[in-house]
Amino acid sequence: METRVRIAPSPSGYLHVGTARTAIFNWLYARKRNGKFLIRIEDTDTESSDPALVDPILNALKWLGMEPDEPIQYQSKRAQLHGKFVSELLKSGRGYRCFCSKEKLETAREKARQEKHAPRYDRACADLSADEIQKRMSEGLPSVVRVRIPDGETVYNDLILGEITRQNVDLDDFVVARADGRALYNFAAVVDDHDMGVTDVIRGNDHITNTFKQIHIYCALGFQEPNFGHVPLLLRPDKRKISKRLGDKDVAEYGADGFLPQAMFNFLCLLGWSPKDGREIMSYDEILDAFSIGGINANNPVFDEQKLIAFNKDHIKTAPIDQLVMLIAPLLVENKLTESDWVDDSTNCEYLKKVIDVMRERLRVVNDFSQLAGFFFSELTEYDPKGVSKRFKPETAELLANLADSFESLEKFDHTSLEAALDSVSEKLGARRADIIHATRLAVSAMTQGPGLFDLLALVGKDRTVTRLRRAIEFIRNMKPQTQT
Ligand code: GLU
Repeated sequence: METRVRIAPSPSGYLHVGTARTAIFNWLYARKRNGKFLIRIEDTDTESSDPALVDPILNALKWLGMEPDEPIQYQSKRAQLHGKFVSELLKSGRGYRCFCSKEKLETAREKARQEKHAPRYDRACADLSADEIQKRMSEGLPSVVRVRIPDGETVYNDLILGEITRQNVDLDDFVVARADGRALYNFAAVVDDHDMGVTDVIRGNDHITNTFKQIHIYCALGFQEPNFGHVPLLLRPDKRKISKRLGDKDVAEYGADGFLPQAMFNFLCLLGWSPKDGREIMSYDEILDAFSIGGINANNPVFDEQKLIAFNKDHIKTAPIDQLVMLIAPLLVENKLTESDWVDDSTNCEYLKKVIDVMRERLRVVNDFSQLAGFFFSELTEYDPKGVSKRFKPETAELLANLADSFESLEKFDHTSLEAALDSVSEKLGARRADIIHATRLAVSAMTQGPGLFDLLALVGKDRTVTRLRRAIEFIRNMKPQTQT
């Protein structure tokens, strides 16, 4: 039988990392079994659903590399099907109409609260005769539909948590459809999962109680029950559960902040799952190869953004260059470092690729690029002030002047010739190599740290390097004595 899984987000908030992680586990589970990954938007609760959130949720899933294998289903469009099965439930006698008033139920709940036990429906309407039901309905009395829960206990074997048992008495004859005929969440979800052919329901462990209720709905409707797997929920560093209610960050926002989707995917997988050999940084294919649902452990992992940054750093080192170009080119435009069509020119694009290659080791997030590599694309504005006081001394001007002359006469402006030229200036003037290197870096990049100096210079190119050295010489000569501390 084909494996069919789904993620069923409610559009009551953006896609947060917890739901994204559940989606990832579903996606991997389906891919592992050559099955299908489906999406159902659970938008029946019109009060909390916002249709405008559907696209951002789908885009965030797409950003992570997950697209549905079949058209997306919208629960709100399936009300007729839900209604049909509510009728079947009533016909089969596994469900019944309940006419009890809200006031009566509230009084019973209050009494239970005072007596300190869980409220239970007294089944006053469980055995009404057909005539009695007909009579009350013709009088216009509103009624909800309840499912009849048998005595005993319910056991199922969770894909992640193993065997779980619950006493049926705790489930109560719960309501599956409102007085206006609309099916409630658990009922609608079962009908939809059945209708969509879902074989495995993998979701957050906050749904375990729903699972027990749903098992009874499956049984009452005569449907084959799927496998269930419950993923431990993610915690925030303050140990509270990550949730929309606490306003946890939209996954897509991480993309906008410069995180790579493959890093986020990798990081979220490793929250609660790990390959047997303990590897951490893994590609999509490596994860897919090693993944098994049984490998998810039952503890609640903590989502630590610092660790995500470390993953992102590692993924940037190995990301395909074209992916980085696609992400970085718009940032250069945004930061006014290039014109918008600059990267369309193949020479410029090749140049950008080279700069990315020398810089990628240093990026925590892709968005660091403009700040750390801006000097490759635009003229320098201001030297790092701490760098100036440490690296630009009156005698530095002479070092840089010699270096500028020597660089100017170079035929080849590559790593080897630049290093040789700098070494000979250092020897000729009896100056420390490190002093020249630091001053040159500051003169050419305005920064005190960056990629290897000779690679940096080779990329900046002869003309700009020499111009910047001469500009720094001017700057040093004009420095007021008090800035030379
Ligand atoms: N709409 C539910 C949620 O967002 C989905 C539950 C399920 O996967 O069945 O939590």
